[in-house]
This record gives sequence, C-alpha cells and structure tokens, in this order.
Amino acid sequence: MTLMEIHEPGATPLPHAGEGSLAVGIDLGTTNSVVAIAREGKPAALHDETGKAMVPSVVAYPSSGGVLVGDKARQLLAHESRNVVASVKRLMGRGAADLHAVAGVLPYEIEPGSGETDMVKLRIAGKARSPVEISAEILKALRKRAEEALEKPVERAVITVPAYFDDAARTATRDAARVAGLEVLRLVNEPTAAALAYGLDKGSEGLYAVYDLGGGTFDFSLLRLEKGVFQVLATGGDTALGGDDFDRAIAERMLAERKKDGLGDKLDEAAVKTALALARHMKEQLSDRDQTSGRLEVSGVPSFHALTRAEFEAMIANYVKRTLDIARHVLGDAGMTAAEVQGVVLVGGSTRVPLVRAEVAKMIGKPPLTDIDPDEVVALGAALQAEALTGGGDTLLLDVTPLSLGLETMGGIVEKVVPRNTPIPVQLAQDFTTYQDGQTAMAIHVVQGEREMVADCRSLARFELLGIPPMTAGAARIRVAFAVDADGLLAVSAEERTTGVQQRIEVKPSYGLSHEDMADMLYDSLEHAEADMTTRLLTEAKVEGRRNLLALDAALAKDGALLDPAERAELDRGRARLESAIAGEDRDEINAAAEALETLSKPFAERRMDRGIRDALAGKSVNELESRVGE
Ligand code: ADP
Ligand code: MG
Repeated sequence: MTLMEIHEPGATPLPHAGEGSLAVGIDLGTTNSVVAIAREGKPAALHDETGKAMVPSVVAYPSSGGVLVGDKARQLLAHESRNVVASVKRLMGRGAADLHAVAGVLPYEIEPGSGETDMVKLRIAGKARSPVEISAEILKALRKRAEEALEKPVERAVITVPAYFDDAARTATRDAARVAGLEVLRLVNEPTAAALAYGLDKGSEGLYAVYDLGGGTFDFSLLRLEKGVFQVLATGGDTALGGDDFDRAIAERMLAERKKDGLGDKLDEAAVKTALALARHMKEQLSDRDQTSGRLEVSGVPSFHALTRAEFEAMIANYVKRTLDIARHVLGDAGMTAAEVQGVVLVGGSTRVPLVRAEVAKMIGKPPLTDIDPDEVVALGAALQAEALTGGGDTLLLDVTPLSLGLETMGGIVEKVVPRNTPIPVQLAQDFTTYQDGQTAMAIHVVQGEREMVADCRSLARFELLGIPPMTAGAARIRVAFAVDADGLLAVSAEERTTGVQQRIEVKPSYGLSHEDMADMLYDSLEHAEADMTTRLLTEAKVEGRRNLLALDAALAKDGALLDPAERAELDRGRARLESAIAGEDRDEINAAAEALETLSKPFAERRMDRGIRDALAGKSVNELESRVGE
C-alpha cells in the first residue's frame, strides 16, 4: 500500500500555549472514561479520593433532582434504571435512520429527532435529552476531577474517539466538549492514542496492532509507527462484542443452575441486573485466580455458584475467536500478515482476561505489550498529545480516512476523490466539467463508500454551484476540492476556474454510521467489485452515448439543411440504433452503435466545419485573407 507523504499536523503550538489553563487527555469510553495529564512527556491518569482512575460512563437524572455521573449513577441502575443512561457513546451523531442498530440494546426510550436530519433524543425522567448533553455531563465530571486534582482551571482537552467514528459522531463529541466548557485541541483516534503511549516510551518503529476489547465493543487497528509518526493503516471491529458478553454467559449459567435446583425464579429486570453484576465481579476475579464463587440472591432466595477459570474460558472461547477472526480480516484488508506485526498493544479492561492475552499472543506470534494499564493507556496517549499540542512535546500524529469520499457524476457513477485510508489532514482536488451546452449550474453530491454506484454508497451532502458561464458542454472547468482536517471533518468546495465563482460546504451529516454498517460497506465493495465494474462501464457507455445524441440533435437543429433527404434518413437510422442500444444493457452494442453513428455523421460534421470556416471568414477583407493564407 502506498501512502502519500504529508507534513505532520499540529507541529505548531497553539497561540494560547503556556497560558494559565491546563490541557488534559480524555478517553471518553462507552463503558468507562479516564482523564489524564502529561508533564514533560510523562503522562499520568488522574484519580479520585479512593485512588480510582476510571469513571463509569453513566449519567443519572434521579427523581430527587440533579445529575449524577459515574459510580453514583451506576448505583442508581438497580432502583431507578429508567433515569439512568449508560453507553450514550453509541448514540453520538446518530439519527432516526440508525435507530435499528441500537433499538432493544438500550433500556431507555429513544425518540427520533424532529426531522430526518436530527440526532436522536432520549426521554429520561420526563425530559428529552440529546446524547450531546448527556455526554457533556461525563466530560464535566472529568473536568471537575482534573481541576480538583491539579488545583488549576482546565479548559482544553484532547479527546479520543473510535477510529471508525464518522463526521457526525466527531462533531457531536466536539459539541459535548463545548457544552462542558472544554476547547477540543484535537480529536485523536483511540488506537493512535494507545500506540502513542507506547511509542514514546519504547521509541521502537514498525507495524503495530491495537487490540481493544472493552465492555461492549471490540476494535482492531493496524498502525505504522515511523520516525515518531503514526498512521492508522486499517481498522475493523464489532460494536456488540465485549466483556458484557462474558458477564452474560456467566449470569445465564448461574440462572440455569438455579432453575435446575428447582428455584422457579420470576426473572424480572432487577434479577437479571443482579446476576449480571455478580457475574462481572466473578469474571474480574478470575483474571487473577483459578477459581471463584458467588452468592446470588433473587426474590430473597440465595444460591451459591462456583466457577473455575477453565470453565469460564470454555464459555467465552467463541467470543475470543470472533475477535481473532476480525483481526485477521483487518490484516488482510491492509495486505499484511500477522508475522509483520512487530507488537500488539492491548487496550480495554477485557484484555485482562488471561485467555484473551494468550490467544492474541498466539495469533500474532509474540507476547502482547501490557506494561501500561489497559484501562488508562488511551487517556495517557491523549494526554501526551495534549501536551504536544500546547507546545510541550513533539509527538506527531497521522490518521487516515476510514472510507472513500467522492462525487456523483453522470449516470450515478461515483468518482472517488479521497480514497479510503488516505492519511489526514489532506486536501485533494479534481476537475469536473459540464455535460450539456449552456449548462450554468452543477449539482455537487458528496458520497462516502467503496462501491462504484451512488445508489450503493452513503450520501453525505448536496449543494449547487450556480453562475457557471454558459459554454459548450465539456468546456467549463469546475475544480472540486475535498479537505479533511486533522479531526476527520470534511469540507468540500467547488470553483468554476474562469470566473472564480465558488461554493463551499462543511459536511456534518446529521446521523452516523454504525461500525457494522461500515464493515458491511467494505465487505460489499469487495464482494461486488466485479459486478460493480461492469455496471460502471455500462453506465459510462450510456452516458457517453446520450452525450453524442444530444450533440447530434443540436447540430441537426442548427445545420440540418446541409444534408440531403437520403443522408438525413441514414443518419436518423443510425441515431435510432444508438438510442435503442442505450435503452438496453449491452455495452458492446452501445459502443458499436456509437461508433457507427460517428462514421455516418462524419461528412455532416465536415460540412458543418467548412461552413463554420466560411462564416468566420465572411466579411474579412481580401488583404486580411491573403496575409492569413500566406502565413
Ligand atoms: P470501554 O472502552 O467500553 O469504556 P473498558 O475498556 O473500560 O470499556 O472495559 C470495560 C470492561 O472490562 C468491562 O466488561 C469489565 O468487566 C472488564 N474488566 C475490567 N477489569 C477486568 C478484569 N480484571 N478482568 C476481566 N475483565 C475486566
Ligand atoms: Mg475503551
């Protein structure tokens, strides 16, 4: 894979660098969040009074009023679950169209936004709240923790997001930070932040993998580290795979054991939640010992359950295997083999499970990097980047676009302008032209995806470039520039080159793209590559054929008198053949008919040209003519 070389972003310190307020790094996780600070290249997570760095990403609006975040909010889950929001990250930047992806997963009521374009809202404690404002509560709590620990105002942050987060989700994250009173210095991809934490410590170059198994999500990314610069080469994952699945497996087993013992439990929500909480505790204990046991109480009746690590490993083996399958897929996508991976970084609480570590080690063929706490590693990397961006450090970052970005051209064909996996920030431009004579407006339709046809890609934005001076078809030069900034946000501009008329749009699509959707789009494009190419070639032939018909019709309308009736009849037959070929699906026939028509119309074209020259010369003086001929 060749990647374009570009300068690293963020090399210049921001103007406010060195002022009173501090810049922190924040891992805003689905399950847990962490805030950290770096000083002179040494990052540290900020703890609460009890020494805990992790803040559960849970927000509660208790019926007694106020807002709770973290452990206190999670405690409320058992009694007032409808007033508690967990996993709000899954809804960031999502619209009504994405609801199917989360429906049934989340316990609260979700309202589609007012229009198709709005983000969803959650109805909590009788009030509709947006994911942005709920997320902002988590960020406020982290900011407060940092200010208390550092005894200084904290107003700036580097926040991490999953590599697959799209524009809408990134924008929503920025908005949440703003609501929390934090200026976002940069959004950094989570795997990049994790690698940053290790890359600096070890200073070793090469291809790295980041294996991130959290509570409810799995991500696998490939990064290249070179001269202190990181590139995300490829990423993939599953948004419904993680430690929660392990908990569920244990809880189900305990509930089945109760049933076998004749305890006819009525399993309400509270009973299931209690079983899950106990399961989670037992699971975490099994990371450090060979066996554990727990006491489960449902409707006042207790039961006792023993679990060995070997039994637990058998229960989760399939989940672990799934993560490895995804990892192999990502490697294949980047054209890499496991042997080329120099090191694998473990991220996320679930990588504490010994079986996970062992299986990852087996697949990559070397022991994973585990020196840094997998719960903190992302926040630590973000803190390092925050220090670098405020002038303190010198770490450089590079990320890539997860999906190709392009434009709709005639016939619904996609012209890719920014290919997938292009390092960002990047600015790429391409020239387009008009299709019809005298065309003064152009519809710019920005799409995202890997397929050849617009209908199979995702529509991001549309706008019109008006005020193109009327010219012959194909004469206008419209330069369309795509700029993707360091946060992955896209701006598209279109400019007519002779007059300089310009139009510009910032793409902040209203709703996001789920991880599965993205994986599907990628797999689809591979699966359909050949059929897509056939469709594209056929469509191109049709577009070209139609363009020829349009041009011929215009010429006939103007200069039809240059043809005698027999010639005209022959030309009409050729025209009809092309027209009916275009209506069909045979590309060879379209091309043959177009070629035949071109041959047929050659004498007509020549006559028109002669006449054009005659017309041009009419009225010129003899002298003028002679001097020209003499040239
Ligand atoms: P996220 O990135 O989704 O916010 P985390 O990285 O914080 O999630 O991971 C949370 C998950 O890690 C939970 O399922 C939790 O039970 C699990 N976990 C935490 N500590 C351990 C441990 N010692 N052993 C096994 N699993 C653990
Ligand atoms: Mg995480």
